[in-house]
Amino acid sequence: ILDRISTRAFPFPSSSLSTAASSEHPIRATLFPGDGIGPEIAESVKQVFNAAEVPIEWEEHYVGDKVDPRTESFLTWESLESVRRNGVGLKGPMATPIGKGHRSLNLTLRKELGLYANVRPCYSLPGYKTRYDDVDLVTIRENTEGEYSGLEHQVVRGVVESLKIITRQASLRVAEYAFHYAKANGRKRVSAIHKANIMRKTDGLFLKCCREVAEKYPDITYEEVIIDNCCMMLVKNPTLFDVLVMPNLYGDIISDLCAGLIGGLGLTPSCNIGEGGIALAEAVHGSAPDIAGKNLANPTALLLSSVMMLRHLQLNDKADQIHNAILSTIAEGKYRTGDLGGKSSTSEFTKAVCDHL
Ligand code: NAD
Repeated sequence: ILDRISTRAFPFPSSSLSTAASSEHPIRATLFPGDGIGPEIAESVKQVFNAAEVPIEWEEHYVGDKVDPRTESFLTWESLESVRRNGVGLKGPMATPIGKGHRSLNLTLRKELGLYANVRPCYSLPGYKTRYDDVDLVTIRENTEGEYSGLEHQVVRGVVESLKIITRQASLRVAEYAFHYAKANGRKRVSAIHKANIMRKTDGLFLKCCREVAEKYPDITYEEVIIDNCCMMLVKNPTLFDVLVMPNLYGDIISDLCAGLIGGLGLTPSCNIGEGGIALAEAVHGSAPDIAGKNLANPTALLLSSVMMLRHLQLNDKADQIHNAILSTIAEGKYRTGDLGGKSSTSEFTKAVCDHL
Protein backbone atom coordinates (compact mmCIF):
# COMPACT_ATOMS: atom_id res chain seq x y z
CA ILE A 1 0.00 0.00 0.00
CA LEU A 2 2.78 2.37 0.94
CA ASP A 3 4.22 2.40 -2.57
CA ARG A 4 0.98 3.85 -3.84
CA ILE A 5 1.40 7.08 -1.95
CA SER A 6 4.15 9.55 -2.51
CA THR A 7 4.72 10.94 0.97
CA ARG A 8 7.18 8.29 1.99
CA ALA A 9 10.26 10.45 1.96
CA PHE A 10 10.31 13.10 4.62
CA PRO A 11 13.75 14.63 4.92
CA PHE A 12 14.46 17.59 7.10
CA PRO A 13 17.30 20.04 6.87
CA SER A 14 20.20 19.68 9.27
CA SER A 15 18.98 16.63 11.11
CA SER A 16 21.94 15.66 13.24
CA LEU A 17 20.12 12.92 15.11
CA SER A 18 21.71 9.56 15.60
CA THR A 19 20.21 6.71 13.61
CA ALA A 20 22.20 3.99 15.35
CA ALA A 21 19.43 3.30 17.84
CA SER A 22 18.79 -0.16 19.25
CA SER A 23 16.79 -1.63 22.09
CA GLU A 24 19.93 -1.32 24.31
CA HIS A 25 20.55 2.27 23.16
CA PRO A 26 17.15 3.78 22.40
CA ILE A 27 16.60 7.34 21.22
CA ARG A 28 14.96 9.56 23.82
CA ALA A 29 11.95 11.51 22.58
CA THR A 30 9.65 13.86 24.45
CA LEU A 31 5.97 12.97 24.65
CA PHE A 32 3.22 15.40 25.56
CA PRO A 33 0.01 13.33 25.87
CA GLY A 34 -1.94 16.63 25.95
CA ASP A 35 -5.61 17.26 26.79
CA GLY A 36 -8.99 15.79 25.85
CA ILE A 37 -8.51 12.76 23.60
CA GLY A 38 -4.72 13.31 23.79
CA PRO A 39 -3.94 10.69 26.48
CA GLU A 40 -6.07 8.04 24.69
CA ILE A 41 -4.41 8.50 21.30
CA ALA A 42 -0.94 8.88 22.87
CA GLU A 43 -1.54 5.51 24.55
CA SER A 44 -2.32 4.10 21.13
CA VAL A 45 1.05 5.32 19.79
CA LYS A 46 2.86 3.83 22.78
CA GLN A 47 1.18 0.45 22.23
CA VAL A 48 1.97 0.40 18.50
CA PHE A 49 5.60 1.44 19.13
CA ASN A 50 5.93 -1.34 21.73
CA ALA A 51 4.44 -3.92 19.38
CA ALA A 52 6.76 -2.79 16.56
CA GLU A 53 9.74 -2.72 18.95
CA VAL A 54 10.64 0.84 18.00
CA PRO A 55 13.83 1.86 19.82
CA ILE A 56 12.35 4.99 21.37
CA GLU A 57 12.30 5.83 25.04
CA TRP A 58 9.58 8.35 25.86
CA GLU A 59 10.17 11.21 28.25
CA GLU A 60 6.60 12.12 29.18
CA HIS A 61 5.61 15.64 30.16
CA TYR A 62 2.22 16.87 31.24
CA VAL A 63 0.75 20.34 31.13
CA GLY A 64 1.23 21.84 34.59
CA ASP A 65 -1.56 23.02 36.92
CA LYS A 66 -0.09 26.47 37.47
CA VAL A 67 1.55 29.08 35.30
CA ASP A 68 5.31 28.73 35.04
CA PRO A 69 6.63 32.31 35.05
CA ARG A 70 9.50 31.28 32.81
CA THR A 71 7.13 30.22 30.01
CA GLU A 72 4.17 32.47 31.01
CA SER A 73 1.93 29.45 30.44
CA PHE A 74 0.93 26.14 32.01
CA LEU A 75 3.75 24.47 30.12
CA THR A 76 6.69 23.89 32.38
CA TRP A 77 10.18 25.06 31.55
CA GLU A 78 11.40 21.49 32.13
CA SER A 79 9.13 20.17 29.36
CA LEU A 80 10.56 22.70 26.89
CA GLU A 81 14.07 21.79 27.99
CA SER A 82 13.22 18.14 27.34
CA VAL A 83 12.36 18.88 23.67
CA ARG A 84 15.47 21.04 23.29
CA ARG A 85 17.65 18.29 24.74
CA ASN A 86 16.09 15.40 22.79
CA GLY A 87 15.59 17.40 19.57
CA VAL A 88 12.52 15.36 18.79
CA GLY A 89 9.07 14.77 20.24
CA LEU A 90 5.43 13.92 19.78
CA LYS A 91 2.63 16.07 21.06
CA GLY A 92 -1.05 15.40 21.71
CA PRO A 93 -3.58 18.21 21.29
CA MET A 94 -3.69 20.95 23.90
CA ALA A 95 -6.90 22.81 24.68
CA THR A 96 -6.95 26.61 24.61
CA PRO A 97 -9.75 28.38 26.49
CA ILE A 98 -11.63 30.67 24.10
CA GLY A 99 -11.23 34.41 24.69
CA LYS A 100 -9.57 34.23 28.12
CA GLY A 101 -6.74 32.76 30.18
CA HIS A 102 -3.02 32.54 29.76
CA ARG A 103 -0.73 32.39 26.77
CA SER A 104 -1.82 29.46 24.55
CA LEU A 105 0.16 26.28 25.15
CA ASN A 106 0.59 25.75 21.42
CA LEU A 107 1.79 29.32 20.88
CA THR A 108 4.24 28.92 23.76
CA LEU A 109 5.71 25.76 22.25
CA ARG A 110 6.03 27.28 18.79
CA LYS A 111 7.59 30.51 20.03
CA GLU A 112 9.89 29.07 22.68
CA LEU A 113 11.17 26.25 20.46
CA GLY A 114 11.34 28.36 17.30
CA LEU A 115 9.06 25.90 15.48
CA TYR A 116 8.94 27.95 12.31
CA ALA A 117 7.26 25.58 9.83
CA ASN A 118 4.36 23.22 10.26
CA VAL A 119 4.24 20.53 7.59
CA ARG A 120 0.79 19.04 7.03
CA PRO A 121 0.64 16.29 4.40
CA CYS A 122 -2.82 15.23 3.26
CA TYR A 123 -3.38 12.26 0.98
CA SER A 124 -6.28 9.98 0.09
CA LEU A 125 -6.09 6.77 2.05
CA PRO A 126 -6.19 3.71 -0.19
CA GLY A 127 -9.47 1.83 0.24
CA TYR A 128 -11.25 4.60 2.13
CA LYS A 129 -13.69 6.18 -0.30
CA THR A 130 -14.39 9.91 -0.27
CA ARG A 131 -15.42 12.24 -3.06
CA TYR A 132 -11.79 12.21 -4.24
CA ASP A 133 -9.38 9.32 -4.42
CA ASP A 134 -6.31 11.18 -5.62
CA VAL A 135 -5.61 13.92 -3.09
CA ASP A 136 -1.89 14.30 -2.42
CA LEU A 137 -0.88 17.71 -1.18
CA VAL A 138 1.17 19.28 1.57
CA THR A 139 0.34 22.46 3.42
CA ILE A 140 3.35 24.25 4.87
CA ARG A 141 2.24 26.77 7.42
CA GLU A 142 4.34 29.61 8.81
CA ASN A 143 4.11 28.86 12.49
CA THR A 144 5.39 31.78 14.54
CA GLU A 145 3.74 35.03 13.53
CA GLY A 146 0.92 36.49 11.39
CA GLU A 147 -2.40 36.88 13.22
CA TYR A 148 -1.14 34.38 15.81
CA SER A 149 1.53 36.68 17.20
CA GLY A 150 -0.48 36.94 20.40
CA LEU A 151 -0.48 40.75 20.31
CA GLU A 152 -4.00 41.88 21.16
CA HIS A 153 -5.23 44.73 23.30
CA GLN A 154 -8.13 47.03 23.97
CA VAL A 155 -7.71 50.47 22.40
CA VAL A 156 -10.67 52.09 24.13
CA ARG A 157 -13.90 50.62 25.49
CA GLY A 158 -15.61 48.70 22.70
CA VAL A 159 -12.58 48.74 20.39
CA VAL A 160 -9.92 46.04 20.35
CA GLU A 161 -6.88 45.65 18.18
CA SER A 162 -5.02 42.54 17.06
CA LEU A 163 -1.67 42.85 15.33
CA LYS A 164 -0.70 40.76 12.35
CA ILE A 165 3.07 40.60 12.21
CA ILE A 166 4.88 39.46 9.09
CA THR A 167 8.66 39.62 9.00
CA ARG A 168 11.05 39.14 6.15
CA GLN A 169 13.10 36.72 8.23
CA ALA A 170 10.22 34.34 9.09
CA SER A 171 8.73 34.54 5.58
CA LEU A 172 12.05 33.73 3.89
CA ARG A 173 12.64 30.89 6.34
CA VAL A 174 9.29 29.17 5.71
CA ALA A 175 9.48 29.76 1.95
CA GLU A 176 12.96 28.28 1.89
CA TYR A 177 11.71 25.27 3.82
CA ALA A 178 8.75 24.81 1.43
CA PHE A 179 10.97 24.82 -1.67
CA HIS A 180 13.55 22.62 0.00
CA TYR A 181 10.78 20.18 0.95
CA ALA A 182 9.34 20.22 -2.58
CA LYS A 183 12.71 19.55 -4.14
CA ALA A 184 13.69 16.82 -1.68
CA ASN A 185 10.36 15.04 -2.14
CA GLY A 186 10.24 15.28 -5.94
CA ARG A 187 7.32 17.64 -5.95
CA LYS A 188 6.80 19.95 -8.89
CA ARG A 189 4.83 22.98 -7.78
CA VAL A 190 4.76 25.42 -4.86
CA SER A 191 1.72 27.67 -4.47
CA ALA A 192 1.95 30.68 -2.18
CA ILE A 193 -1.49 31.35 -0.67
CA HIS A 194 -2.25 34.93 0.29
CA LYS A 195 -4.65 37.86 0.49
CA ALA A 196 -2.19 40.50 -0.67
CA ASN A 197 -4.89 42.32 -2.64
CA ILE A 198 -6.25 43.50 0.74
CA MET A 199 -3.37 42.85 3.17
CA ARG A 200 -1.00 44.73 0.91
CA LYS A 201 1.86 45.28 3.33
CA THR A 202 1.83 42.02 5.33
CA ASP A 203 0.87 39.43 2.71
CA GLY A 204 2.68 41.60 0.16
CA LEU A 205 5.94 41.08 2.06
CA PHE A 206 5.22 37.36 2.43
CA LEU A 207 4.79 37.03 -1.35
CA LYS A 208 7.90 39.09 -2.07
CA CYS A 209 9.92 36.67 0.06
CA CYS A 210 8.36 33.62 -1.65
CA ARG A 211 9.24 35.08 -5.08
CA GLU A 212 12.81 35.69 -3.97
CA VAL A 213 13.20 32.07 -2.86
CA ALA A 214 11.37 30.73 -5.94
CA GLU A 215 14.08 32.20 -8.17
CA LYS A 216 16.60 29.83 -6.61
CA TYR A 217 14.47 26.81 -7.61
CA PRO A 218 13.94 27.10 -11.40
CA ASP A 219 12.81 23.46 -11.68
CA ILE A 220 9.83 24.02 -9.43
CA THR A 221 6.78 25.83 -10.77
CA TYR A 222 5.84 28.76 -8.55
CA GLU A 223 2.40 30.34 -8.46
CA GLU A 224 0.42 32.70 -6.23
CA VAL A 225 -3.22 32.05 -5.38
CA ILE A 226 -5.58 34.28 -3.41
CA ILE A 227 -6.90 32.35 -0.40
CA ASP A 228 -10.61 32.56 -1.20
CA ASN A 229 -10.02 31.27 -4.72
CA CYS A 230 -7.71 28.61 -3.29
CA CYS A 231 -10.57 27.29 -1.09
CA MET A 232 -12.87 27.04 -4.10
CA MET A 233 -10.20 25.32 -6.21
CA LEU A 234 -9.36 22.85 -3.44
CA VAL A 235 -12.97 21.78 -3.05
CA LYS A 236 -13.51 21.57 -6.80
CA ASN A 237 -10.28 19.85 -7.79
CA PRO A 238 -7.61 19.25 -5.12
CA THR A 239 -5.21 17.73 -7.67
CA LEU A 240 -4.52 21.27 -8.90
CA PHE A 241 -2.20 21.67 -5.90
CA ASP A 242 1.02 20.08 -4.77
CA VAL A 243 2.88 22.02 -2.03
CA LEU A 244 1.14 25.06 -0.55
CA VAL A 245 2.96 27.61 1.59
CA MET A 246 1.16 30.31 3.52
CA PRO A 247 1.03 32.57 6.58
CA ASN A 248 -0.05 31.12 9.91
CA LEU A 249 -3.83 31.69 10.08
CA TYR A 250 -4.44 30.63 6.48
CA GLY A 251 -2.47 27.44 7.08
CA ASP A 252 -4.55 26.62 10.14
CA ILE A 253 -7.77 26.93 8.15
CA ILE A 254 -6.70 25.43 4.82
CA SER A 255 -5.32 22.29 6.44
CA ASP A 256 -8.69 21.56 8.10
CA LEU A 257 -10.32 22.05 4.69
CA CYS A 258 -7.81 19.57 3.24
CA ALA A 259 -8.56 17.09 6.04
CA GLY A 260 -12.21 17.27 5.01
CA LEU A 261 -11.26 16.17 1.48
CA ILE A 262 -9.85 12.83 2.64
CA GLY A 263 -12.19 11.84 5.48
CA GLY A 264 -11.69 14.27 8.35
CA LEU A 265 -9.44 15.41 11.14
CA GLY A 266 -8.94 11.90 12.49
CA LEU A 267 -6.58 11.25 9.57
CA THR A 268 -4.24 14.21 9.12
CA PRO A 269 -0.77 14.32 10.70
CA SER A 270 1.73 17.12 10.94
CA CYS A 271 5.24 17.90 12.08
CA ASN A 272 6.61 21.18 13.40
CA ILE A 273 10.12 21.98 12.27
CA GLY A 274 12.26 24.13 14.50
CA GLU A 275 15.58 25.84 14.74
CA GLY A 276 18.55 23.51 14.94
CA GLY A 277 16.60 20.64 13.39
CA ILE A 278 14.06 20.20 16.22
CA ALA A 279 11.00 18.20 15.14
CA LEU A 280 7.81 18.08 17.17
CA ALA A 281 5.14 15.97 15.49
CA GLU A 282 1.44 16.41 16.28
CA ALA A 283 -1.96 15.70 14.77
CA VAL A 284 -3.69 18.56 12.95
CA HIS A 285 -6.79 18.16 15.11
CA GLY A 286 -7.53 19.56 18.56
CA SER A 287 -8.51 17.96 21.86
CA ALA A 288 -12.01 16.93 20.64
CA PRO A 289 -13.71 17.52 24.01
CA ASP A 290 -17.00 16.12 22.63
CA ILE A 291 -15.56 12.58 22.48
CA ALA A 292 -12.80 12.77 25.10
CA GLY A 293 -12.53 9.93 27.60
CA LYS A 294 -14.95 7.71 25.65
CA ASN A 295 -12.49 5.49 23.77
CA LEU A 296 -13.98 6.82 20.50
CA ALA A 297 -11.16 8.90 19.04
CA ASN A 298 -9.40 7.90 15.85
CA PRO A 299 -5.69 7.65 16.72
CA THR A 300 -4.64 7.60 13.03
CA ALA A 301 -3.66 11.28 12.84
CA LEU A 302 -1.33 10.99 15.84
CA LEU A 303 -0.02 7.62 14.66
CA LEU A 304 0.79 9.10 11.24
CA SER A 305 2.44 12.04 13.03
CA SER A 306 4.58 9.56 14.95
CA VAL A 307 5.53 8.03 11.58
CA MET A 308 6.71 11.50 10.47
CA MET A 309 8.78 11.66 13.64
CA LEU A 310 10.35 8.27 12.84
CA ARG A 311 11.21 9.44 9.31
CA HIS A 312 12.87 12.49 10.82
CA LEU A 313 14.97 10.11 12.90
CA GLN A 314 15.67 8.11 9.74
CA LEU A 315 14.14 5.04 11.38
CA ASN A 316 12.60 4.34 7.98
CA ASP A 317 12.03 0.60 8.38
CA LYS A 318 9.98 1.15 11.52
CA ALA A 319 8.20 4.09 9.89
CA ASP A 320 7.29 1.96 6.86
CA GLN A 321 6.15 -0.93 9.02
CA ILE A 322 3.82 1.23 11.13
CA HIS A 323 2.63 3.34 8.19
CA ASN A 324 1.72 0.20 6.25
CA ALA A 325 -0.07 -1.34 9.24
CA ILE A 326 -2.23 1.79 9.69
CA LEU A 327 -3.12 2.01 6.00
CA SER A 328 -3.82 -1.72 5.71
CA THR A 329 -6.09 -1.65 8.76
CA ILE A 330 -8.11 1.23 7.31
CA ALA A 331 -8.17 -0.28 3.80
CA GLU A 332 -9.37 -3.63 5.11
CA GLY A 333 -12.33 -1.82 6.63
CA LYS A 334 -13.10 -4.27 9.42
CA TYR A 335 -11.84 -2.02 12.19
CA ARG A 336 -12.61 1.65 11.69
CA THR A 337 -13.49 4.29 14.25
CA GLY A 338 -16.80 6.17 14.25
CA ASP A 339 -15.51 9.23 12.36
CA LEU A 340 -14.85 6.90 9.39
CA GLY A 341 -18.26 5.27 9.66
CA GLY A 342 -17.00 2.25 11.62
CA LYS A 343 -17.89 0.85 15.03
CA SER A 344 -14.44 0.26 16.53
CA SER A 345 -13.19 1.90 19.67
CA THR A 346 -9.78 3.58 19.88
CA SER A 347 -8.36 0.50 21.58
CA GLU A 348 -9.88 -1.98 19.10
CA PHE A 349 -8.46 -0.01 16.18
CA THR A 350 -5.08 0.18 17.93
CA LYS A 351 -5.04 -3.58 18.46
CA ALA A 352 -5.90 -4.12 14.79
CA VAL A 353 -2.95 -1.90 13.76
CA CYS A 354 -0.66 -3.92 16.05
CA ASP A 355 -1.97 -7.13 14.46
CA HIS A 356 -1.13 -5.74 10.99
CA LEU A 357 2.48 -4.95 11.86
P1 NAD B 1 -11.09 19.60 17.30
O1 NAD B 1 -10.12 19.30 16.22
O2 NAD B 1 -10.71 19.21 18.67
O3 NAD B 1 -12.49 18.88 16.95
C1 NAD B 1 -13.25 19.18 15.79
C2 NAD B 1 -14.18 18.00 15.47
O4 NAD B 1 -13.39 16.91 14.96
C3 NAD B 1 -14.91 17.44 16.70
O5 NAD B 1 -16.19 17.03 16.31
C4 NAD B 1 -14.07 16.25 17.11
O6 NAD B 1 -14.80 15.23 17.78
C5 NAD B 1 -13.54 15.74 15.75
N1 NAD B 1 -12.23 15.12 15.92
C6 NAD B 1 -11.05 15.73 16.10
N2 NAD B 1 -10.08 14.84 16.22
C7 NAD B 1 -10.64 13.62 16.11
C8 NAD B 1 -10.14 12.29 16.17
N3 NAD B 1 -8.83 12.03 16.36
N4 NAD B 1 -11.01 11.26 16.03
C9 NAD B 1 -12.31 11.50 15.81
N5 NAD B 1 -12.85 12.74 15.76
C10 NAD B 1 -12.02 13.78 15.90
O7 NAD B 1 -11.40 21.16 17.21
P2 NAD B 1 -12.15 22.11 18.25
O8 NAD B 1 -13.33 21.40 18.86
O9 NAD B 1 -12.36 23.36 17.51
O10 NAD B 1 -11.08 22.40 19.38
C11 NAD B 1 -11.06 21.77 20.67
C12 NAD B 1 -9.87 22.30 21.46
O11 NAD B 1 -8.65 21.89 20.85
C13 NAD B 1 -9.80 23.82 21.60
O12 NAD B 1 -9.41 24.14 22.92
C14 NAD B 1 -8.70 24.21 20.61
O13 NAD B 1 -8.05 25.39 21.00
C15 NAD B 1 -7.78 23.02 20.73
N6 NAD B 1 -6.93 22.81 19.53
C16 NAD B 1 -5.67 22.40 19.78
C17 NAD B 1 -4.84 22.11 18.71
C18 NAD B 1 -3.45 21.65 19.00
O14 NAD B 1 -3.14 21.29 20.12
N7 NAD B 1 -2.57 21.64 18.01
C19 NAD B 1 -5.32 22.21 17.39
C20 NAD B 1 -6.64 22.60 17.19
C21 NAD B 1 -7.45 22.90 18.28
